[in-house]
Formats: sequence, C-alpha cells, structure tokens
Amino acid sequence: MPVDLAPYAVAPSNSRGRRYREDPPAYRSEFQRDRDRIIHSTAFRRLVYKTQVFVNHEGDLYRTRLTHSLEVAQIARTVARAMRLNEDLVEAISLAHDLGHTPFGHAGQDALNDCMREFGGFEHNLQSLRVVDQLEAGHADFPGLNLTFETREGILKHCSTANARRLGEIGERFLKRQQPGLEAQLVNIADEIAYNNHDVDDGLRSGLIKLADLAELPVVAEQIVIVQHKHPGVSGRREIHEVVRSMIGIFVTDLIDTSQARVHTAAPENIAAVRLQPRALIGFSEPYSEAKTTLKRFLRKHLYRHPQVNAMTEHAQQIVSTLFEVFLDDYQRMPTEHANSAREHHDSEGLAGGARVVADYIAGMTDRFAKQAHENLHNASGSSKAGTS
Ligand code: MG
Repeated sequence: MPVDLAPYAVAPSNSRGRRYREDPPAYRSEFQRDRDRIIHSTAFRRLVYKTQVFVNHEGDLYRTRLTHSLEVAQIARTVARAMRLNEDLVEAISLAHDLGHTPFGHAGQDALNDCMREFGGFEHNLQSLRVVDQLEAGHADFPGLNLTFETREGILKHCSTANARRLGEIGERFLKRQQPGLEAQLVNIADEIAYNNHDVDDGLRSGLIKLADLAELPVVAEQIVIVQHKHPGVSGRREIHEVVRSMIGIFVTDLIDTSQARVHTAAPENIAAVRLQPRALIGFSEPYSEAKTTLKRFLRKHLYRHPQVNAMTEHAQQIVSTLFEVFLDDYQRMPTEHANSAREHHDSEGLAGGARVVADYIAGMTDRFAKQAHENLHNASGSSKAGTS
C-alpha cells in the first residue's frame, strides 16, 4: 500500500472496523487481510465456473465471473494508485463484488428473483454481502469472513429501502442518502469499464456482433481511426484487441481526470466529508458518461438480447426455476447440510425461511453444477444429489 494515501482515502486508521473484533494483522493491512480472506473463500473459487455473458462451457476463451473480477481489480487498482486511494481496499471490493452471482449470469439472477418474489426477492448485490457476512464458513469464531465495514460497503452497491432498514449500519447510507467511500465509488465504475469492454471483445469473438456495426458508435469509430493510423491495415483479432485496449485506456483516463478535478473542487478533508457530498465524486465526464450509456445500449440490443444468447438464457432460467420448485417442495432433495438448514429456518420463519436457504443453495451453484443437478432430477436412480457444495 502506498504510504502517501490521500487524506480522503480510506485507511486502516479511519476504518469503521469489523463486526467481530480481531487483533490487527502483523504484516498486512486490514484490507489486504480482507482480500486474502476473499481469495481463499469457496465462493471465490466458484467464480471460475460462472457465466459472465456466455455460458461457461460454450468456449474456453470467454470471460467468466472470475476473469471479470480480476479485470475489475486491475482497472480499479490503476485508478486508485493514480488518485492516491487505497489500492488494497479496491482490490478486496473488486474481487468480492460478484461473489453472490447465481449460475448463468443475469438470466439466472432474474429467474431466482422471480422464484423468490413472494419471499423477499433475490438480488445478487445483496447476496454478495450475504456470502461474505453469513454463508462462508471460514472461521471458528464468527460467521462469514468478518470483513471490514469499508469492504462490505463497497460490495453493497445499492439496495432497497426495506433491505437498508433491515441491514443496520451497512444500510444506513441508503436511508440517509449519503455517499460511500471513494474506493467503493471507484470499483462501481471500474466494474462498468471492465464489462462494457470485455463484452465487446467477447461479442466480437463470438461473431454475434461485428466491428463494422460497433463502428456506428462514435467512441468506437474514433478508436478505430486511431488504431488504423498507428497500425495501418491492421485487421482481425489484432485490430479488435487494439480497439478494446484503446477504449479501456480512454475511459480510464477520463475517469481519472474527471474524478481528480471533482475531488479537487469539493476538497473533502477526510472520509466523513466524502460521505456527505451531494453526489459521487468518482465518475466520467458528461461526454464519456454518454458514450458509456450508448455502448451499454448497443450491447443490450445486439448482444445480451441476441437470439442465440436468448436461447441460452431461456434454458438457464428453466434450470434455475425447476431446481427451485423441486427443492422448495422437498428440502431432502438438497444435500443434508442444506436440507437441515432449510428445515430449521422453515420451522422458525415459515416457508420464506426455507425458501431463502434454497435460494442460497442454488445461487452458490456453478453453471455446470446446476446443469448436473438439473439432469439428476430426471435420473430415477434416487441418487439425485449432485454432491455437496
Ligand atoms: Mg461485476
């Protein structure tokens, strides 16, 4: 960690600490400790087999949740270092931000949210927090990973008022309409830079979108001109790679320049002053914010809703909802540990308690585990459990 952190950065000395008190680490910062706990968690290892856009087994070259999280961390660390923010903290938040994602990307999340509609819904952001606060069982003395307040704050990017009330301290800022720390703001934007650009790359690789179509967007057209000027006649994968590289570069540069200027103008003395700002200080300039929105819109229309992707997501949604129905109907069809937990929560909280345990179990599945569990439902052998997770 750089020693010259900005006064408005989060530092171990101004951290709001952990829910359960622990001795400070001997040779790491508190946030390095958070990052290490995240990397060693079970949920983190599962990210490698979870879909970003393309179902995990469609091809080995597409992004998964794991490589996405690494790209977010890389972008966020670059910006954090340039702005003298806490690099360890942004790394921890980045690596944890998608831990609550269901199998099959957004299709899986939408399906699970539908299934949970009468039981409080399902939201991947909140689920990521639930994973690090409750579901990971890595320590003898406390539930979850017992991460610092600031890492948890960064994971919970948004939440409903009802959930904010229920969550206590970590939900307060949504009720008071305060800002999170700059590191949390930064990871939020780094996430967008990462997925917009890698989805362009994966979309082109898959052939579902074409560079010529993307060139309708001014921000892409500009990069093509720059790339062609620098490397006359370059084509194919090399051209795509150069264009994507160039796009990440200009978005990151704009993010740093704009954020630095806003921080300079607002001149927050410390983290408390950052929280009281009327709006986030980390962000793009107006033109780049617009360019980002246009790019997102393009991807939604031409990639996320492409018939081929749709066919895949419909199948994924069907897998998730079938698993949910079957497990909710008979907890015993889940592995013993989950079945017992569902029964206990059902007894104390009613059906919603049991449903939440079923949702946790399904959300924790990787793409292939969910597919296998679904296939096993149809095997009449009775050995329907795809193994413990
Ligand atoms: Mg993400």
